[in-house]
Amino acid sequence: MSIFTKIISGEIKGTIIHQDDLCAVLVDIQPQAPKHFLVVPKKEIVSVHHASEADKNLLGHLLWAAAEVARKLGFAEDGYRLVINTGRDGGQTVPHIHVHLMGGRPMTWPPG
Ligand code: AMP
Repeated sequence: MSIFTKIISGEIKGTIIHQDDLCAVLVDIQPQAPKHFLVVPKKEIVSVHHASEADKNLLGHLLWAAAEVARKLGFAEDGYRLVINTGRDGGQTVPHIHVHLMGGRPMTWPPG
């Protein structure tokens, strides 16, 4: 079971700010921006690379949920960044798909 699944199930402590039937939005424990959340599917899929065609709608749902959270928390108009680190070279450290939702400051490009 991934650490995110354990947080969602209540087995370990974490802060969940939004939930629906398909996903949960957690506060990142090591924030890289004033607002830093993780949109996590309740279905435990290792990465985007591991998602199947049957998961297409779920993947879209994660982006929609991120946009909704940014709107509800009032930083959508200022803009934000969504990131999905994937695999070793992508810098993924937790093997359970998550969309980083970061906002509250201007972002730079390119990423490291
Ligand atoms: P990634 O490196 O893209 O796989 O991102 C994993 C993210 O999960 C990092 O931003 C971590 O800070 C975050 N993280 C790891 N453990 C926890 C936890 N227990 N609660 C909340 N966020 C976590």
